[in-house]
Amino acid sequence: MSFVKEAYIAQLAVKRASLLTKRIADEHLQRGIEKKDKSPVTIGDFAAQAVIIHSILKNFPEDLIVGEENSSLIKSQHLEPKILKEIDWVQKSDSVSNDKLGVITNAEELCSAVDKGNSKGGHKGRIWALDPIDGTSGFLRGAQYAVCLALIVDGVVQVGVVGCPHLPHSLYEKDSKIGGIYTAVKGQGAYFQDLAAAVTSPYDSSHPIHLHNDYDFSKARVVEGVEKGHSSHELQSLIESKLKIAQPPVRLDSQVKYCAVANGDAEIYLRLPTSLSYREKIWDHASGWLLVHESGGIVTDIFGNKLDFGSGRTLNSQGVIAATATLHPEIIKTVKDLVGEHGQMLYRFCSA
Ligand code: AMP
Ligand code: MG
Repeated sequence: MSFVKEAYIAQLAVKRASLLTKRIADEHLQRGIEKKDKSPVTIGDFAAQAVIIHSILKNFPEDLIVGEENSSLIKSQHLEPKILKEIDWVQKSDSVSNDKLGVITNAEELCSAVDKGNSKGGHKGRIWALDPIDGTSGFLRGAQYAVCLALIVDGVVQVGVVGCPHLPHSLYEKDSKIGGIYTAVKGQGAYFQDLAAAVTSPYDSSHPIHLHNDYDFSKARVVEGVEKGHSSHELQSLIESKLKIAQPPVRLDSQVKYCAVANGDAEIYLRLPTSLSYREKIWDHASGWLLVHESGGIVTDIFGNKLDFGSGRTLNSQGVIAATATLHPEIIKTVKDLVGEHGQMLYRFCSA
């Protein structure tokens, strides 16, 4: 088996960041700070990015990291003490992993770790893609969010781990347990484990997950984003009605949507462009892409093209369609019918 150590360290680091951010959310300590691009960030994003990068570089010092955040706001808003307090809490409550992941003890180590997420990405070498809190809007609302980490080697995603602290183990089971870690290794399948379980070796306390390739559109369940600005709700409804999808869609923030598909709780994830110029970020999709592929599904852009995770910090493609291998081709055909073979009619649903 390859990438055993990488998957194990990624699981431990994602678990640590999941526990840290869950405490912030559950204690209502999250406050949104506006970034230059107007999107929100919280002390949880910075703390999670720091502990994960510190963990990766302790184990794989030569690797590069594409991380969403940098330390400029930490420094300008003097957030160091608040962030270090959260990191200190998780290093004490998750002390069982301190030997493997290392510890952060001061502001210099904190900012240095956060700023190591500055790789430009690319087709050569070992590059980790990290979204410390994917779905920050959901995190601020106390709803769904995910801690996402993937290892990309020479442009190909080899390991993907997604921590989902607020996701029920089953979306449709009343009283389902909440909180899980979803792991995929290329060619080795996709796995689930309870966030509360000890991660003692890579797949010890986990079990394999699969999606339902036998479902047709009348049975298929769709997951889609909550934020109107991230995926066109209008286009989603049109596609669903053209395909005669009977079940109402479930709206969830972040890459938990990929986990729901991989876990067999949904058969389709639609992410349709809202802006002609926006290109998806690699950290928003790398882990989820591998999870769905390893559980038996397909993920492409809205035209059915492969996603290229070696193209830099940003994918050269618009939107995402993730679905079971059975349903995916018909969805792409329907999207093209609505927006044109090359997206000539996309402007009807998008801003510039
Ligand atoms: P979701 O929770 O599915 O809405 O996805 C959250 C992610 O959407 C964030 O991490 C952002 O990187 C990303 N995002 C921001 N603006 C856009 C946009 N215009 N289109 C698509 N995704 C976006
Ligand atoms: Mg994100």
